[in-house]
Amino acid sequence: MSEWKRYTITAALPYANGPVHIGHLAGCYLPADIYVRYLRARRRDVVFICGSDEHGVPITITARREGVTPQQVVDKYHRIMGDAFAEFGISFSIYSRTSSQTHKETAQGFFKKLYDEGKFIEQETEQYYDEEVKQFLADRYIQGTCPVCGNENAYGDQCENCGSSLSPTDLIHPHSMLSGSKPVLKKTKNWFLPLDKLQPQIAGYLEQHKDWKINVYGQCKSWLESGDGLQPRSMTRDLDWGVPVPVPGAEGKVLYVWFDAPIGYISATKDLLPHTWETYWKDKDTRLIHFIGKDNIVFHCIIFPAMLMDHGEFILADNVPANEFLNLEGQKLSTSRNWAVWLHEYLEEFKDKQDELRYVLTSIAPETKDSEFTWKDYQTRVNSELVGIFGNLVNRVLVLTDKYFDNQVPEARECGELKTFTTDQKNKITDALENFRFREGLSELINLARHGNQLLSEKEPWKTIKDNREYTGATLYDCLQIIANLAILCEPFLPFTSKKIFDMLNLDPASLSWEDAGRQDLLKPGHKLGQAALLYQKIEEEQIEKQVEKLHSQSPQTPKGGLNTKTMENKEPSSDTAPGSALKPLSPEIVFDDFARIDLRAGTILSAEKVEKADKLLKLTVDLGFEVRTIVSGIAEHFKPEDLIGIQVSVVANLAPRKLRGIESKGMILLAEDTVGRLHFVSPKDLTENGSIIK
Ligand SMILES: [Zn+2]
Repeated sequence: MSEWKRYTITAALPYANGPVHIGHLAGCYLPADIYVRYLRARRRDVVFICGSDEHGVPITITARREGVTPQQVVDKYHRIMGDAFAEFGISFSIYSRTSSQTHKETAQGFFKKLYDEGKFIEQETEQYYDEEVKQFLADRYIQGTCPVCGNENAYGDQCENCGSSLSPTDLIHPHSMLSGSKPVLKKTKNWFLPLDKLQPQIAGYLEQHKDWKINVYGQCKSWLESGDGLQPRSMTRDLDWGVPVPVPGAEGKVLYVWFDAPIGYISATKDLLPHTWETYWKDKDTRLIHFIGKDNIVFHCIIFPAMLMDHGEFILADNVPANEFLNLEGQKLSTSRNWAVWLHEYLEEFKDKQDELRYVLTSIAPETKDSEFTWKDYQTRVNSELVGIFGNLVNRVLVLTDKYFDNQVPEARECGELKTFTTDQKNKITDALENFRFREGLSELINLARHGNQLLSEKEPWKTIKDNREYTGATLYDCLQIIANLAILCEPFLPFTSKKIFDMLNLDPASLSWEDAGRQDLLKPGHKLGQAALLYQKIEEEQIEKQVEKLHSQSPQTPKGGLNTKTMENKEPSSDTAPGSALKPLSPEIVFDDFARIDLRAGTILSAEKVEKADKLLKLTVDLGFEVRTIVSGIAEHFKPEDLIGIQVSVVANLAPRKLRGIESKGMILLAEDTVGRLHFVSPKDLTENGSIIK
């Protein structure tokens, strides 16, 4: 089927700024691992490359938020992520990191070659600059409103809501994530990759790959064809965390993370195979495949290939089977809102149930469109398919064989019909795996187990044993061969299960390869079987309820770092703040910097009036010393307007203005809410000068 001599399989380098959740696993690591395990079972020559991306701007943002150095952040998460992958059986040949010396040299060497050959355009541009912290702002340090979908938390390079790729200047109402201030444009010199000139070559490359998944090919096409086509893209950044740009006049600049990160695949291969790595990146007979999530498509299908073309020595990806996104219980997975199932936490609750999660995530994999994980569905799939079909077959057959045939494979002849069926199933699974249709492959695997159960219920060995021992032996022989085939064919999907079955069958996994699947003599008559044990256990209702509860309790209503003191203008009282509720649990810990970004001032209410057609809102004018502002506050049900005049209050003074019922509200007033839902102003105890800083 394949003429390829060897395979280089990469899985997206995860940013080392947080642990791994089920969305990451389903998005690229699990499909990549299934594919690699399949290739290994076929005895193909394959390297499986991954590592931590330790240079992303999100890392410096995390470091700032946690009050530690970027190095401390990446050291911590590199370990946590590596452990989680290993525990779930993600079988990387190497899990490297982009802060390694090899990577620094490789990335710099790559850049230097393009620079020396005059491939870059040197260009002075205007970049956003934060005057308060005196620093140029990386795209990810700028947030604003997405011009495409209106998401207010879009980043300067991308909107994570609609997937649009953006430039910082595209954002409406941009603000610096360092100081919250409005950034200004300032001149700086950077090196650009002329993607416009490379467009015909990239278009030609895509034309050769019309076999790619529709979602991948379509996204690339629309990139090439939108507006004026590809534009030069800066490959350097004004930033102090990353690989230094190795050319004169580039002090204080580092390589753009999307220049540096994909080169990480190459440097990791160098670390793995110092002497032979080049064959995995330069030999035309090597098949390069990138497994990624949909948010990385343009970087792997356009920008990285453009870099490789310009460099000239490397092969290009033959396929990029990117997945769409996985949602969780009706919402997008979100690290910042803690709306996620974290791998390391899953194992605390579901010890040794890695394959159960691998199974469910593969059977709902977002291969062609977004899909959804729910705990109820997890329970149903585990109980009805893994326990009810797969585990049930293995357990019944082994127990009956032990009981009737002293735990030895009965004497019987191969069944030709079953051989045809098993071989068909193997071919279906093989075809699905070759074409990255992992859901389909898994479902054909279960169909094979289902067939075994059908044989059992048709032939009823527990009845036939009374008067036909030979017939009973033939039934169990057939079922045992199905189980041995399952052990081989399930290995890519369910490696822990595969190992358990091989143990129970007393077979050496290394003695059988993918090519052996289909055979009906994997277990010889008289072969002594091993100890039977339950493959899977039922997931109980309480376990699921506990997870759903945990998910809701750990996810704060407001993003992490938000102010916990009740403020009333942005939120009308809702059920979760209803009178009678007890004191709420504390929000996640923040660092001093988070608090320091909030500018609190003392101010005196000068006037108050009801807002027309809004029962809850009062329009207040507040004297802040340096200016008088209008603030709309949702307190009309708690206070009479005339009682408020002259009260000194605490105001969040640097909050971005927003319109409520057509009135622009500039700031928020702090209020304390007691357990019966009454509101109290948070005021300076003694009257102070308006505009005084509250800290
Ligand atoms: Zn958007």
